[in-house]
Amino acid sequence: MLLEVEDLHVRYGRTHAVAGATLSVAEGEIVAVLGANGAGKSSLLKAILGTVKPAGGRIRFAGAEVTHAPVPQRIRDGLVLVPEGRRILVSMTIEENLLLGAGLRRDRATLPREMDAIYDRFSNLAARRDMPAAVLSGGEQQMLAIGRAMLAKPRLMMLDEPSLGLSPLLVDRVFSLLRELNGGGMAVLLVEQNTRKTLELAARGSVLELGRMVMAGSAASLLADEGLQRAYLGAG
Ligand code: ATP
Repeated sequence: MLLEVEDLHVRYGRTHAVAGATLSVAEGEIVAVLGANGAGKSSLLKAILGTVKPAGGRIRFAGAEVTHAPVPQRIRDGLVLVPEGRRILVSMTIEENLLLGAGLRRDRATLPREMDAIYDRFSNLAARRDMPAAVLSGGEQQMLAIGRAMLAKPRLMMLDEPSLGLSPLLVDRVFSLLRELNGGGMAVLLVEQNTRKTLELAARGSVLELGRMVMAGSAASLLADEGLQRAYLGAG
């Protein structure tokens, strides 16, 4: 397994945001984490990256225990997070934002080629690379956030609700981009409220409720689950 999370706990004072989460992601796999607002999904991803300290449990990444490892080490090892709300620095240029993703890389030889590949893929970014990122629409900012994460050359990209606030067309673009990146061998841990689309993309998934994992299984079995359909898939 590329990522193994075992009995992870996150606490904020008296709030037990993650109360014993266990999950794994294999090399090249797409795994989904589903759950309502406040279920603890963001806290789980932050603890895996290391920006929030776990109150208990264990995280292994790429064969090493990283539970208490510094964030930059995890990023260098190939773990990256596209955070909720994108966290674009709007007063910096699009190019500067992209380059932030490569900030921790040691091998920079192929960076110009990778930048060109990202600009080829996202022509809206290419045309305005020297403008402040504030000129971008929400969808374009999401592409920039994913492009920035790609420049870290991740083995596992975690994304926190990348489709939030996007039009259906752009949601499709984000999902097809993830499929394509996964086709190139990158594993994905995807937190989403867009349940059906996410389970159509992922191989496996877990459902988090009030910090607890209440369900886990193949994406197909989750899609077919009546309880989950009632709670998260609506009538459609
Ligand atoms: P959302 O989709 O709304 O972001 P989530 O599933 O990602 O929800 P979290 O953001 O992880 O859930 O929040 C889980 C619980 O922890 C919530 O009750 C939230 O209010 C609380 N929480 C999150 N961050 C903090 C914080 N920095 N300090 C205190 N409580 C927090």
